[in-house]
Amino acid sequence: MIHPRRQSFRSSRICRFAAAVGAVAVVGTTQGARSDEPRGLVPPEPPQNILASVIAAPTAPGLRAWHDLLGSQPHVAGGAGDAAVIAAIAGAFQGMGLETEVWRFSPLLCRPVSASLTIIEGSGAAGSTAAPKAEDLGRRRRGIMSLSLQEEELLADPATRHPELDRGWNAYSGSGVVEAGVVYANRGRREDFARLRELGVDCTGRIVLVRYGGNYRGFKVRFAEEAGAAGLVIFTDPGDSGDDRGATWPDGGWANDTCIQRGSIVTLPYKGDPLTPFEPSIPGTTRLAMEDVALPTIPVQPIGYAAATRIMAAMTGPVVEDASWTGGLDVPYRQDGGDLELRLEVQQTRAIMETANVLGSIRGSESPDDVVIVGCHHDAWGFGAADPLAGTIVLMETAKAFATALEQGFRPRRTVIFAAWGAEEFGIIGSSEWCEAQRDRLGANGVAYINLDMAAMGTTFGASASPSLRSAVIRAASLVEQPGKGGETVRDVWAGDRESPRLGDLGGGSDHVGFLCHLCIPSISLGAGGSAGTSYHSNYDTLAWYRSTVGEDYLGALMVTRLCAALTADLADARILPIEPAAIARDLPSRLEGIGRAAEAAGLTIDLSPLYEDLVALNHALLAAQDAMEGALDDPQRSKVNTALRLLERAWGEDPGLPGRPWFRNVFATSNRDSGYGAVVLPLFSEAIVDQDQAALDRALRRYQNAFRRLAASARDISGGVGSVSEETFEADAGQR
Ligand SMILES: [Zn+2]
Repeated sequence: MIHPRRQSFRSSRICRFAAAVGAVAVVGTTQGARSDEPRGLVPPEPPQNILASVIAAPTAPGLRAWHDLLGSQPHVAGGAGDAAVIAAIAGAFQGMGLETEVWRFSPLLCRPVSASLTIIEGSGAAGSTAAPKAEDLGRRRRGIMSLSLQEEELLADPATRHPELDRGWNAYSGSGVVEAGVVYANRGRREDFARLRELGVDCTGRIVLVRYGGNYRGFKVRFAEEAGAAGLVIFTDPGDSGDDRGATWPDGGWANDTCIQRGSIVTLPYKGDPLTPFEPSIPGTTRLAMEDVALPTIPVQPIGYAAATRIMAAMTGPVVEDASWTGGLDVPYRQDGGDLELRLEVQQTRAIMETANVLGSIRGSESPDDVVIVGCHHDAWGFGAADPLAGTIVLMETAKAFATALEQGFRPRRTVIFAAWGAEEFGIIGSSEWCEAQRDRLGANGVAYINLDMAAMGTTFGASASPSLRSAVIRAASLVEQPGKGGETVRDVWAGDRESPRLGDLGGGSDHVGFLCHLCIPSISLGAGGSAGTSYHSNYDTLAWYRSTVGEDYLGALMVTRLCAALTADLADARILPIEPAAIARDLPSRLEGIGRAAEAAGLTIDLSPLYEDLVALNHALLAAQDAMEGALDDPQRSKVNTALRLLERAWGEDPGLPGRPWFRNVFATSNRDSGYGAVVLPLFSEAIVDQDQAALDRALRRYQNAFRRLAASARDISGGVGSVSEETFEADAGQR
């Protein structure tokens, strides 16, 4: 039904792009490269253009220096270390000569006050829903084993002894004390609690024990609360990331048995400050009352697998029947604790605290109002060497490359903003608040957003992106050499046996959410992985861990920085924006087929034929837009085409947004409503199918017809930008139907 796109667009653009940096590749292979850098792609002096300049400028020692600057103290959002990192980034941007802004905001954050987890003697009262009086707790029964709630300090990694490191905690936990029996609920997914109901296991008044993985931790809390749990304990399973996987820190990179994953547990239907949905948390904004916001109410505590083993070993209930509920603990996984009781106490304070985004800008020469944004958060749970700094150092080195290019006389056509976001870890707060504050400006002038969270975790490159930006990412990957592969490009290694690399769908999980899901600005997430181990959200996420596990040489970080710089230069300086309209419809037929099959499997009926008609019209409008972009354009035409291209995908935005989640306005891509991190494409359909809601499915069909028509109209604005040429092209394309 959809004509396969002629390949002219992509190949011609690659040629133009490659020609622009051709000198780089040629000279790079004939001149000796410095020994600390990969061979090839070293520029002639001086570089001939902005692209050559920004690819050449980054260095491994530069990346390492950013890591030393930002990763030598814990910096949880809102604390003293956070303020120091904000000042360091602002100073660095200023030192580069960027226009620098420290954008302060004041969201609701929280702090751990105290916590304890104790195995107490069984009394046969497991499952009792009667809450004991606080003064009776501890007096009534003797605690028999206090479980450790903080990582072991390591002689081999002195940073782990830093006095500002906290015990393990989940931000926005309820505060209180619970003594209760234990139920094990696997990953704490919706289906896991459904399974417990089938088995007749009652979670009411119990402390539920779950393991990390399978969904965003906040949903474990929400489903546990819905099941009536009185408390929740979340453990790291050694089968996922511990000694089952390999040597543990400090002998290897995997989680040792005291390693604890921290993290936020909010599951509000919007991102950003819990108290200011849709509005920035800055002076003048009215905040919601805390009691009107659905934050967790039960105490929640993360633990390592030494503590989890002790709990599981003390449980006396039946062993789980389903093998998929067991993992790497060295004891049988039991369904419930029998007589075992735990005492869990968590105290946290919630308070409005100040933090900041730091923005460094280079003003565009031709279209200064149009902005390309490159971002990564700066806040962490501890030192944050991997999360976020493996991305923040790429951001800083990319910014430095553009500052160097500026000194060499290369100013991009469009404005580039380098953004270090605050308070991402508490709920993607800083970037969301900024998107809310800049809604009108970004809605009109946002070109694209590139996210770099944890971008340099190895040398195996990968990316997720809005479909219209995928060819731009692949082009950038074709300009950068893969470390240790004898001159092969990142693109070739990334593609492997395939003709072309495959990119993932972009959804939730990091700072692109405000741009993509709220403002409908096409977005990209870049990164490289492949290292053996994880220190995720733990006190072991130190520079020593990173350098031992990911590497001392920073070659993966250098590769990602060059790629990010090339991509940013393309987006910021190409005469015609490197947005590929035809790609928007390319995957839609297969996605709709999948929707049709899923609807049928769920016992729903859907007739997609009217939507296919709109899709055909949309595809032709997009192809005509593509052709219009390729025509020889004079400056007024070019300006009109770029404006229409920039605004094209705003057409995915709808008010009031997704059902129950009006902040999520993008009906093309979103984060998974029921698990959090994963991307969901065409969510109106998939959510109706999950809910087995025929009326919602019918409404979704009509809404997507309207969305396809809006997109087609936007695409015609692109071809309209070149006047009669586009009309002819459009007719010609329509004639092939
Ligand atoms: Zn992160």
